[in-house]
Amino acid sequence: MRILLVEDEKRLSHYIKKGLVEEGFAVDQAYDGEEGLYFAKEETYDIIILDVMLPKLSGVEVCKRFRGFKKTTPILMLTARSETEDKILGLESGADDYLTKPFVFAELKARINALLRRSYRQVSNILTIRDLEIDPTKHSVKRDKKDIKLTPKEFAILELLMRRKYEVVTRTQVIEHVWDYNFDSLSNVVDVFIGTLRKKIDRGHKTKLIHTLHGVGYMISDKTPKV
Ligand code: CA
Repeated sequence: MRILLVEDEKRLSHYIKKGLVEEGFAVDQAYDGEEGLYFAKEETYDIIILDVMLPKLSGVEVCKRFRGFKKTTPILMLTARSETEDKILGLESGADDYLTKPFVFAELKARINALLRRSYRQVSNILTIRDLEIDPTKHSVKRDKKDIKLTPKEFAILELLMRRKYEVVTRTQVIEHVWDYNFDSLSNVVDVFIGTLRKKIDRGHKTKLIHTLHGVGYMISDKTPKV
């Protein structure tokens, strides 16, 4: 999953990004409101983390303008003050949740997971299809009750496919949701990752779950997809 982090405090931004990358997220950073709004509009994100107090454009203003473009990406606001007014203003401007600074990373992670679950309309944190089960909060993968070890990027791709099971996910969408802005999208790295994922997930199992639809994209399904 890919996150836009709009935060002008460099040290805090670095700390949040580091934690999120360790969790397998792809993270783009913006350091003021204008830059944040630009990235939010031009790129594709699963979540936007938006500080309220920002140079050039406030977080509330970024949020309002972004929603003005009919964009529905979930927004988590960071507010330095615990004043109710700030929170109300944030929520009224179109934010989905807020977190008061200072916060512990575990809480940020929990809020992000809750927003992702809501945005992909899931009831539980655990995503399943047949005998495959993944838990994005713990980064665990099991097939037929056996643990499978995945690298963070492999996990991120599998998570995206699982959140959208039975839907075609294009190569571009995989790139947009799993890699950050600096990724060279001309490489065939997605196909390579899908290849290793298929080995780890499907090898030795009668029902194949990961499918490549040539020229279209990928799909996780327990039935052979028709194109
Ligand atoms: Ca700030």
